[in-house]
Amino acid sequence: MPQEILRQIPKVDRVLAWAGTASLVASHPRPELVTAIREVLERLRAAARSGVSCDLSEEGVVALVSAELDRRCTPSLRDVVNASGVVIHTNLGRSPLADDAEEAIHRASRGYSNLEFDLTTGERGTRYAHVEGLICELTGAEAALVVNNNAAAVILALSSLAQGRDVIVSRGELVEIGGSFRIPEVMLQSGAHLVEVGATNRTHVRDYRGAINDATALLLKVHTSNFAVVGFTAEVTTEEMSALGREAGVPVMVDAGSGCLIDLAAYGIAGEPTVRRYLAAGADVVTFSGDKLLGGPQAGIIAGKREIVVPMKRHPLLRALRMDKLSLAALEATLRLYRDERRAVREIPTLRMLTATPADLSRRADRILGMLRRRLPKTVTLVKQQGESSAGGGSLPLLGLPTSLIEVRIGGASAQQIEQRLRQTSTPVVGRIQRDRFLLDVRTILDHDFPNLALSLGEAAALLSESGQ
Ligand SMILES: *Cc1c(COP(=O)(O)O)cnc(C)c1O
Repeated sequence: MPQEILRQIPKVDRVLAWAGTASLVASHPRPELVTAIREVLERLRAAARSGVSCDLSEEGVVALVSAELDRRCTPSLRDVVNASGVVIHTNLGRSPLADDAEEAIHRASRGYSNLEFDLTTGERGTRYAHVEGLICELTGAEAALVVNNNAAAVILALSSLAQGRDVIVSRGELVEIGGSFRIPEVMLQSGAHLVEVGATNRTHVRDYRGAINDATALLLKVHTSNFAVVGFTAEVTTEEMSALGREAGVPVMVDAGSGCLIDLAAYGIAGEPTVRRYLAAGADVVTFSGDKLLGGPQAGIIAGKREIVVPMKRHPLLRALRMDKLSLAALEATLRLYRDERRAVREIPTLRMLTATPADLSRRADRILGMLRRRLPKTVTLVKQQGESSAGGGSLPLLGLPTSLIEVRIGGASAQQIEQRLRQTSTPVVGRIQRDRFLLDVRTILDHDFPNLALSLGEAAALLSESGQ
């Protein structure tokens, strides 16, 4: 039986010759069309072999080829509406950029720039000069350097400060960030030897002191980022660690992870020390991300004492880890906004979303509800609710931020069906499911998402009612 069907599947040349294919022949380059036809015929053969019956009529096959051509034209990297409420969502691209940063990328990409050209002397300059002053100004550091991401910053710093020597870290801070970034493994890659001290829940100054010897190159403190140890705990503060480091003549490094440049406690978000605080507490060098709490592009920032940071600028690894000009342009523009804290909070989307008040969010939910109710069919029911969002991106793991949610019901569809359909619309929407309800968290829905959100919900509603579900 499958043999019979396999024989009925047309050859590529025949499909090309069909009258129904003529418009596709006229509108697509031939190699592209042939590839799409091959792909469709291969799928039909696979279906036939597994005993699935398919529409092999001219009309049916041409429709599949046309859909395949459309699919091939759709970029793989697309806009997504983040309605999950997770502000720094690593899988959805972490921080959306401020308008200024977007413009800076546009300018830097359109033409040439003084990326590595000193306009005063007419000689070769360095790309790092465009942000070093700003980073120092905003953190109190003496010197700074930027690389591709914080993982690269940690590797560069460890390679530069501790290759072939010992680095002392608390057992409570041997973090896995997600993906494959684990402190012990990064340490291995940089050629430093990890010396673990203390216990998972408690580490004391005496533990670090007892481990220091001639081979010790560095005391490292790692922000636990995406988890918290609670209960019977003891952690050595940056002040205590720095005092010990000075006493023993060993530098102290803090991998701050997220990298916060303003005191979020002023906005009701407690517990995240700023980079300035770590440095003021005596850390010799701090590394942090550009696209977590800072709200800029992917970047790794190294800020600290001159004698620690300057040698990193000459390290052979730097070339392999260097930041590209577009990210650099966006980083400079984002950092500039921090010169005025009020402006930073207003214009950097990550900060704006994190600091939005419950009243802001409730009004936002009402606006979105009004807009959606005007545009969507009766099969879609929307109900406003209260809940909590999270910071994400390995930042502030215990923080629950009060928010407004919109529960979406479509006919008799389950939350899972709605979730799945909304992922497959022309602008996919990522919400969340809680207690069998599908929810949109308004905190992370950006203003320019509004029209797409309505269209996507409409598409999902149409698909779900078409399939009877
Ligand atoms: C996120 C994080 C990293 C990795 O930073 P990327 O910018 O994602 O490379 C490293 N260390 C800590 C503590 C982190 O939280």
